[in-house]
Amino acid sequence: MSYLFPTYNRLDIELVKGEGTKVTDAEGNTYLDFIAGIAVCNLGHSPAVVKQAIADQMDQIWHVSNLFKIPQQEEAAALLADMSGLDAVFFCNSGAEANEAAIKLAKKHSGKTKIITFKQSFHGRTFATMSATGQEKIHSGFGPLAPQFEYLPFNDVEALSELQGDDIAGIMVEVIQGEGGVNIGTEAFLKEIEKKCKELDALLIIDEVQTGIGRTGKPFAFQHYDLKPDIVTSAKGLGSGFPVGAMMGGKDLIQSFSPGTHGSTFGGNPLAMAAVKATLDAIFDESFLNEVASKSAAFIQLLKEKVEPLPIVKVVKGTGFMIGIELECEAKECIESLRGSGLLTLPAGPDVIRLLPPLTVTGEELQEAVSIIEGVLQSQTAGTAY
Ligand SMILES: *Cc1c(COP(=O)(O)O)cnc(C)c1O
Repeated sequence: MSYLFPTYNRLDIELVKGEGTKVTDAEGNTYLDFIAGIAVCNLGHSPAVVKQAIADQMDQIWHVSNLFKIPQQEEAAALLADMSGLDAVFFCNSGAEANEAAIKLAKKHSGKTKIITFKQSFHGRTFATMSATGQEKIHSGFGPLAPQFEYLPFNDVEALSELQGDDIAGIMVEVIQGEGGVNIGTEAFLKEIEKKCKELDALLIIDEVQTGIGRTGKPFAFQHYDLKPDIVTSAKGLGSGFPVGAMMGGKDLIQSFSPGTHGSTFGGNPLAMAAVKATLDAIFDESFLNEVASKSAAFIQLLKEKVEPLPIVKVVKGTGFMIGIELECEAKECIESLRGSGLLTLPAGPDVIRLLPPLTVTGEELQEAVSIIEGVLQSQTAGTAY
């Protein structure tokens, strides 16, 4: 009997210790963790620099509320503004809250009511962000949804080019859909979104909750494309596991979030900001990001050579360390077998194995992961399950 709402199908594994890419369960089994808390532990488990920063702040003061000046918030915001090319930051506690802030800001700023999102997207579980999410199974049982979200097909330039209306406050998109299947937005599609936003005087909102904070080898994934978003949201990797989210916006938007329009009790407290600053100092370092880019490119190349040709595999896709292995069948059993062989991975959509290793993963660990994946997917091919 559990006292928890069963909102998650939990594995019967208790992870009790983590260091770098390696985690150990209560029975002493060790795993290579290519889930990393779902793209959260980008610096690996228990990173020393973040641990020290939080410990130092713990000795000073934990929480003061946003009724007071919080210089650590200014410093963290400066790092995010600098790397995103935007001008102001609102801190909150999760990805859903960051997107919630983005939706509110877009409406408040534009005076318009409709937000366009995409099918297979994922934007969160609060009422507005669930409504923004383009997946029926996530809406099921919660209707009527928050009004005026409209879902267009992802990577469909033509559907987008037909978009019209003077009531569109913003278009919100993940440049690589995470939960939806590691679907990589095409340059043509993303540029068309930007063009439409200009044409319709709508805000371009990029959800970088999963793709941001170095995950794809750039500070933010939109930087792989020549895009200028009005709003960018972040969370997951932002605090290395300390719960924190952020919404960044351009200078035109600043006056639309005036005192009293939005807020958060915990948002941006000194402990969270210590975690964010230490995380960003490590990740937004040019040589760190260059190494992420080269390590991940070599890894994807190796997966393409060794894993993609297996009969069970449709395609290996990914940017940086956001990688999907799309199968000819459901991914569930393969993920279980991988776990049995000591590699933790997660699904994205029904038929994709998603790999999200810590960005600090070593070359040796990547080699080991490829051998495990190759072995497991090979035997699954020959096996009986399908
Ligand atoms: C995880 C995720 C969210 C929601 O973040 P939470 O912190 O769980 O609220 C929103 N958007 C994207 C793209 C995500 O991957």
